[in-house]
Amino acid sequence: MEQNITLDSIRNFEGKYPKQLWYLFLVEMWERFCFYGMRGVLTIFMADQVLGLSLSDKDANLKYGAIQAFVYAFTFIGGIFADKILGFKKSLVFGGIVMILGNLLIAFSPQEMFYLGITLSIIGTGFFKPNISSMVGELYNEGDSRRDAGFGLFYSGINIGALLGGAICVYLGTSKDFGWSYSFLSAAIVMIIGLITFMLTKKSLGPIGDSPLIELPKPKRNAREIAVYIGSLISIPLIFIMIKNTDYTDYFMYTIGPLAILYFLYETFLEKDFKAQKKLFAAFVFIIFSIIFWAFFEQSGGSLALFAQDNLLHNLLFFEINPNIINNTANSLFVIVFSPILGLLWLALAKRKLESNTVIKFGLGFLFLAAAFYTFYYTKFFANSEGLTSLNIFTLAYLIITFGELCLSPIGLSIMTKLSPKRLSGMMMGMWFLASAYGQYAAGLLGAGMSSPDENASLTTKLQGYTEGYYQLAVYALISGLILIIFTPLIKKLMGDVK
Ligand code: GLN
Repeated sequence: MEQNITLDSIRNFEGKYPKQLWYLFLVEMWERFCFYGMRGVLTIFMADQVLGLSLSDKDANLKYGAIQAFVYAFTFIGGIFADKILGFKKSLVFGGIVMILGNLLIAFSPQEMFYLGITLSIIGTGFFKPNISSMVGELYNEGDSRRDAGFGLFYSGINIGALLGGAICVYLGTSKDFGWSYSFLSAAIVMIIGLITFMLTKKSLGPIGDSPLIELPKPKRNAREIAVYIGSLISIPLIFIMIKNTDYTDYFMYTIGPLAILYFLYETFLEKDFKAQKKLFAAFVFIIFSIIFWAFFEQSGGSLALFAQDNLLHNLLFFEINPNIINNTANSLFVIVFSPILGLLWLALAKRKLESNTVIKFGLGFLFLAAAFYTFYYTKFFANSEGLTSLNIFTLAYLIITFGELCLSPIGLSIMTKLSPKRLSGMMMGMWFLASAYGQYAAGLLGAGMSSPDENASLTTKLQGYTEGYYQLAVYALISGLILIIFTPLIKKLMGDVK
């Protein structure tokens, strides 16, 4: 029966969500467990002087930034190969296997195998991450107003995985009874669960994610697929060298963006349909704005983590809690709770024909971002004479920034799938994540500008430095939001019939 699943039968589902969305939700949840688990232990492992890589804190941070940038930059390449040769399903399976191998290698011998394992994680994530999101988009008919809500639910899955992965891998890695090998091993095991889940449910996706070369004779198709796999193997030493030496990250980031833009322009001009071309340019505008968004938002892994460590009291409402835990978990928890709720709100508004369009949602995302950074700034007025300030206000700021994220990030995934022609949908999703790579990269630069050059500066001086920085970010976020809202008519024109 499963053989006869057609696109129409998938897309004409009843109710709020298609059943395939739940499968993709689970698969992505496990993948994000693996990814965020690895990410959570990365810096501490590299800076561990005994059982880790014995890097200095500064080098560990630099390398962390480099690895993050690479991971998201490779989604662009993974997206292109999915569009041209593999299709989403095969890309996902290949990416998943490579991620598993990467984590198993590190688990086997963390100190010796780390760089090789991380290289595989970078390649694997590149093939996996953009393509699963593209498949979510394929579950919907053009113009189906349930799509944003679907991505909202999917986004909750992302964050459940992120939260569990971060917590469990950090616990295992730092516990005396376990150690680093167990962190990476657990990441590999959940990725295996994710891959098995996908293998067992992929038939329900019918033709979604099949190879674009399905019409080609099998030997020809196989030859091209094998070429992609071999090409990926050949790129291993190159990536390996680039992450070992962080200077190369700068060169890489200077080149991959311009190359991606040139390739985007090339593909856009190849597009015969003028309306489709305009849609691609609209997608490009959203991608550019998302770089700014992530550059601010990703302070969470940098300057906000240091701010939490140095300048916050340990009381949240009536509990005592380490502010670092809030910094690492509040955002995911708020996403898990509020993302489906916001999704339902979009659905309810759509039913009443009141749903705001994507540009307005993006604009709102920036306004929330501005309000959140203003709130981070405002913590300074609650500081005591030692320079310690309120964890409650800090947590409130996280709630506000999460609303910003929910107006922009799942909506961004959704709009990429609405604005891209089928033949370029992987590439465009990859570009969306490439913007995250640039956001991460810029976040590091912004955070470094905010931290006090003097490590022994008083807490009050540090507080001053950070909060002034957050004030500036609030202003720039506000300006970006206003620019988007002012340009709404223009962007809407580019978007044509897409909302
Ligand atoms: N947190 C989201 C995820 O992991 C968004 C990441 C991003 O685009 N920077 O998918």
